Amino acid sequence: MFFLDSDNVYRARPLMAFDWLEHGFGTRHSPAFGTGAEISTLKQIHSSVCIPASAGGCLGEGDALVASTPGRPVSVRTADCLPILMADGRQRTVAAVHAGWRGTIQGIAAKVAGMLGRAEDLHVAIGPGIGQCCFEVGPEVAGQFADLFPERRDLRARTSIDLLEANHRQLIQAGVPGRQIYQAGLCTVCGGAFHSFRRDRERAGRMVSMISRLE
Ligand SMILES: [Zn+2]
Repeated sequence: MFFLDSDNVYRARPLMAFDWLEHGFGTRHSPAFGTGAEISTLKQIHSSVCIPASAGGCLGEGDALVASTPGRPVSVRTADCLPILMADGRQRTVAAVHAGWRGTIQGIAAKVAGMLGRAEDLHVAIGPGIGQCCFEVGPEVAGQFADLFPERRDLRARTSIDLLEANHRQLIQAGVPGRQIYQAGLCTVCGGAFHSFRRDRERAGRMVSMISRLE
């Protein structure tokens, strides 16, 4: 469903079916992707703040950008957190979301989905991020996922969390059809093609994920 193109950018095939939009998930091998001055960005703060994109460049503090007019590309920067790109197939509104564990606990993906339009019109692509294979956390973090993973009995101790599944569940709860949620399922920590904060700490770069309504 996702593939790496010749520019070293991951694309979600289902989003490519919309000829009115452009999107991509950058990797460590595509450092220039999504860095143009016309692209809207944010100072990301692990919140659930969503800002309408009104201009290019940094638009302040927040973790999601929504654009409803053509020619207004929106982006997020990640290195382990999940980049989530959304498109409303009917109204052509698009959004870029940065969902780390704090944003996930705050329900940022579902919140943005609710702002975009009718849930059944939404197409959501969740790009490369830290996988459950590498996301071990202490009980102070794991315990906050108890509502999202009611079937788990191990959240009071050190354990591993599946952020992708957590966001998937929230999007389903928000009414987005499961067949319109596309998951890369690529781990940024143990997959070599990505920047990873957990792996590289302060030396880690950031990857840009971008979506734009063309017309
Ligand atoms: Zn991993």
